[in-house]
Formats: sequence, structure tokens, C-alpha cells
Amino acid sequence: MALLRCRGLRKEFGGHVVLDQLDLTVAEHQVVALIGASGSGKSTLLRCVNLLDDLDDGTIELDGEDISDPRVDPDRVRRRIGMVFQAYNLFPHLSVLDNITLAPRRVHGRGRAEAEAQARELLDRVGLGAKADAYPDRLSGGQQQRVAIVRALANSPRLMLLDEVTSALDPELVGEVLAMIRDLKADGMTMVLATHEMGFAREVADEVCFLDAGRVVESGPPEQVLGEPTQPRTRQFLRRII
Ligand code: ADP
Ligand code: MG
Repeated sequence: MALLRCRGLRKEFGGHVVLDQLDLTVAEHQVVALIGASGSGKSTLLRCVNLLDDLDDGTIELDGEDISDPRVDPDRVRRRIGMVFQAYNLFPHLSVLDNITLAPRRVHGRGRAEAEAQARELLDRVGLGAKADAYPDRLSGGQQQRVAIVRALANSPRLMLLDEVTSALDPELVGEVLAMIRDLKADGMTMVLATHEMGFAREVADEVCFLDAGRVVESGPPEQVLGEPTQPRTRQFLRRII
């Protein structure tokens, strides 16, 4: 069954069409990689799915519910979605533990002890247990980004949206974040990730979608889209970046 189904998405910014009749279906436990040049609409698509941007047309269903219906409470939807951005957005004045437990306590109404126990367990699992009481500026970029992913996971999301989560990292720190995403896939997490890491997309994605000017130009298994693209625009893009 489809966990996420986007149909005919259209988004304009000041007359400039950024998403154009875009369809995307993501099955439960599936990992979809969005690739495409800067400006092709990857971030806008992820933001629309998380209801951070309004659509101009189209529908988005999550778990069979039309979440693009204007009567839907966006906060209720966002509790089911974990989103992580390119630049780690940890709160600098909060410890790692408080960064992670803030939403579970405030939004989900969990008690402090329960939220902290869950956060410590998640941190232990990714090898950051010793950092629970540290402040973000004491962590490397890779560690901060892993904490940001843990924070998104603390809400027990049905779907994770990852927007170029390794792009701001020094090359030697990329691997630890990719390893964490690999583990999430092994745990069966459904994910849509925008990435410039073609090798990683090939390895981790069940499906790769190539976006150009707000349209899905080509999608399919990574070996096909990245290895034997059928569309000239995809070939052109891959030639440029490899
Ligand atoms: P990508 O993530 O693939 O690089 P984006 O979704 O960020 O692409 O951007 C797609 C297009 O939408 C770009 O032309 C960008 O300039 C434009 N855009 C994105 N957000 C806004 C905004 N808030 N206001 C105006 N234009 C925007
Ligand atoms: Mg982007």
C-alpha cells in the first residue's frame, strides 16, 4: 500500500512554476531518492509534503488521508513526519537530550522521564550516548546531523524526509550520516531523500526520481535511472555531475 501519494502537485512562486503536475508514490518501507539540478524543486516538494509550503494544486495523501485538505491541522500531520534539513538546525541553547525531547514532551505530551529514556536509547543506538548532556557546539557537524536525525525519529514518524542532509558536511563526516540512513532503511523506515550523493542513492534507494523544472522526468530502479537513463535530460544531468 502507498504510504505517500502525491498527485498533480503544482507550486508557483511569483508566477514561476516550481512544481509542475508532479506525481510521486512511495510505498511503506520504500526509500525514494530525489535527484536533479539545484533549483529543480526537490526541497519544495519535501516542504510541501511536510505542509511547510502551500500547494497551488494537487493532492497529497499520507496513509490514505488527504493531508492537503486545508481543513487538516498541519501540526497533527507533522507529528507523523520526521524532516531533516541540509544545515543541522539544532537549538544551540539546549543540550542534545533537550533538543531531542522538546517535541515529544511539548507536542506529544510525554513525561520527561519517558521522553529522556527514549532519547537516551536512540542516542545509544547511534553511538552518541555519551553526548546526551553536551551542547551542539561541542559536536562535530556529522554528530550534530546525526542528533538532528535522532530528534526527528523521537516522534516515531511514519515517514522521514531528508533534504540533502550531508551537503553541508566536511567530506570525512559524510560517511557516518549515510551509515545512519542505511540503518534506518534496514529497520524498514519509509524515506524520501533529496541527495547529490549518486553512489549512495544507487545503494540505498529502491527508486530514484530525476526532477527537472519541477517535473519527474524519469523514475525507476537506481540501476536503470542512474545506469541506463532513457531521457536525454537525465543523461545530461548525470554527465555533468559525474
Ligand atoms: P532544489 O531543492 O531542487 O534545489 P528548490 O525546491 O529549493 O530546488 O527550488 C526550486 C525553485 O523554487 C528555485 O527556482 C527556487 O529559487 C524557487 N524557490 C524556492 N523557494 C522559494 C521561495 N520561498 N520564494 C521564491 N522562490 C522560491
Ligand atoms: Mg534543495
